[in-house]
Order: sequence, then structure tokens, then C-alpha cells
Amino acid sequence: MTSSIPVTLIPGDGIGPEIVDATVAVLDALGAPFAWDRQVAGLEGVTTAGDPLPKQTLDSIRRTRLALKGPLETPSGGGYRSSNVRLREEFQLYANMRPAKTIIHGGRYDNIDLVVVRENLEGLYIGHEHYIPIDGDPHAVAMATGVNTRQGSRRLLEYAFDLAVATGRKKVTIVHKANIMKALTGIFLETGLEIYESKYKGKFEIDTVIVDACAMKLVLNPWQFDMLVTTNLFGDILSDLVAGLIGGLGMAPGANIGKDAAIFEAVHGSAPDIAGKGLANPIAILLAAAMMLDHCKLHDMATQLRTAIDETVSLDNVKTGDLGGNASTKDFTNSLIRRINANRR
Ligand code: NAD
Repeated sequence: MTSSIPVTLIPGDGIGPEIVDATVAVLDALGAPFAWDRQVAGLEGVTTAGDPLPKQTLDSIRRTRLALKGPLETPSGGGYRSSNVRLREEFQLYANMRPAKTIIHGGRYDNIDLVVVRENLEGLYIGHEHYIPIDGDPHAVAMATGVNTRQGSRRLLEYAFDLAVATGRKKVTIVHKANIMKALTGIFLETGLEIYESKYKGKFEIDTVIVDACAMKLVLNPWQFDMLVTTNLFGDILSDLVAGLIGGLGMAPGANIGKDAAIFEAVHGSAPDIAGKGLANPIAILLAAAMMLDHCKLHDMATQLRTAIDETVSLDNVKTGDLGGNASTKDFTNSLIRRINANRR
């Protein structure tokens, strides 16, 4: 086995270092050929390098084009912009892919297998906002500008459609609000239908739904969906909803894919309420690591990892507190490594 895929490793803040250490130990047990380049960002970046996104960290990702990242806190005060948004912009990470697959069976929603693909750089999320003062009230009027481009919509939709074909998805649903935001989300809908007709027709079924109806349908009958593709803000909201269908944020991984790099992470944040207590569930970032293995074409290892996570939870019944168990992060990690080793024999 070559040990030759360089990856930038950012432990991050709060529970980040605990779950990232667990992930590195599990990937070592799998024999994954990653050469880690440890870097800092977020609050840790400010404390140790005076910047939430130090140049050295950016240089490392520029070199490796691949990163596994713990959650980052944006320091309040000091006028810092979110490190996550800056990373997306810096490396043009235009696609955010969030798969949701049931691991813990017997819950309110069983056998969920859904992917949300979210545009990651445009829309109302770009943060072009301002206030208009009136009569001494500096915040009398608040305004925000959303920007969606044909080119930005096209590259995201093509990424999603190619992914649907490559992973055998049967149906792709474009989520929009073109009945009201006719220009802003209409351009995304129009581009999606156009590309489908010209390049993807017959490869999968296409469907469209308005975002509010989509939220209701996801709660009533999520099995009617296979892949959802949508603009930035709608994707942000719906992917958390979808994470809720499979047991919450502790189970939800995400990949940020772009022209210049790919960054893998858990969807959840730094969970300051449980940080340092050894209680964090590492499954979300472990599943993100499985996505990174797939990205590196190490599909067998990705499958071994997903199977072992499944078996540790369902057969060995080892679960952290957020899933109703009493295992610590270390207990879960050790059980998972035992499973990986046992499955190899
Ligand atoms: P959060 O996701 O950190 O926590 C929400 C709740 O879920 C908390 O009760 C937490 O204990 C629990 N939780 C989250 N992950 C868990 C895990 N792996 N195991 C067990 N329980 C878990 O959301 P928040 O409290 O709103 O945000 C905290 C900080 O994280 C903020 O500074 C926010 O900006 C940052 N954040 C970062 C990212 C990222 O880097 N991708 C994403 C979201 C939030």
C-alpha cells in the first residue's frame, strides 16, 4: 500500500480535535494511504496564528487540493468573516453534497437514502446586506441581495446530474421558489430543465417542486425523493431537515467540491456544550472520511468503513449519548476499530 495521498487535516474547534483524532485512528486501522498535513483554522487559528484562516493553512490546501476538516467557530467581534464561507470562496467549492442514509433502524423514518446537492457560492447566502436609516433608527430597513448566475447554476446542476448518473439515482428533484422569486430562483429552475433536456434526458427522471411544498413532503413521505438539487439557502435549510430524518446532525456528513479542491466535513458545528468531555459522536465526520475515500477512488475502503459503522451501531449496539447510548467517543472508536479488524480476518 502506498502512503502517498497528501491531505490537509484541520482538527478545528470544540469537539473537532476529539472527532478528528478518532477519524485518523480509524483510517489508520483501515490502512488508508493518507499523509496528513495538520493545520489550524477557526478559533484555534486566531489563538495560534492570529488569523482564522492562516496563509499556511490555505497554502497547504492549495498544495494537497484535499482536506478533512473539523468544525470551525467564527470568533465574535474583530470583524472576522466565517472561515467556512471564505474556504468555499477561496477554492471555488461550488457544490455541497450531503447524503442522508439510515444507520439506526426502527426510528420514526426508516430506510432513508437521500442526497441533497446544494449550490455553495451564490444566492441569498452571499451576504450582500445593508440597512437604511430612517428618522434616527439606523436599522429602519434591512435589505439583502441574492445573486444566481446561469454559469454558476449550470456547473452545480451538471455536477448533480453527473453524480446522479454515476451513483444510479433514479430521480432528481429541482427545488425552487420560482413562483415568487421568479428571476433569482427561476434562472436555476430554467437552467436545470434546459440541461436535462439537452444532455441527460432518459438517464434519470426529473421532477420540480417549490421549496415550501418540498419541506412538507419530506416530513410526510421522504421516500418519494431520491436526490434534491437546489440553491444555497434552500439547500442549507433542507439538508438539516433531511439530517433530522436519520437521527440528527451527529449522523450527517458533507463534502464541498470545487474546481480547485475538495473539503470534507461533518455538517454539525463545534458543539461547545459537550467539547472536551469525550461525549461527541464521531459518525458524521467518519462518514465524511468515507466520502473522501470514494473521492480518492478507494471505494473498497469506503465500503468497509460504512459497513463497520453500521455494524458497530446496529449489531454491537455501541452508541454515543446523542443516539440514546452511553458510549464515549473513545469507546465508540475502539469498538469500530475492533469491527474493522474482525471483518478483515
Ligand atoms: P452545533 O452543531 O455545534 O450543536 C448543536 C447541538 O448538537 C448541540 O447541542 C451539540 O452538543 C449537538 N451536537 C453537534 N454535533 C454533535 C456530535 N458530533 N455529537 C453529539 N452532539 C452533537 O451547532 P451550534 O451550537 O449552533 O454551533 C456551535 C459553533 O459551531 C458555532 O460557532 C457555529 O458557528 C459553528 N458551526 C461550524 C460549522 C462548520 O464548521 N461546518 C457548522 C455549523 C456550526
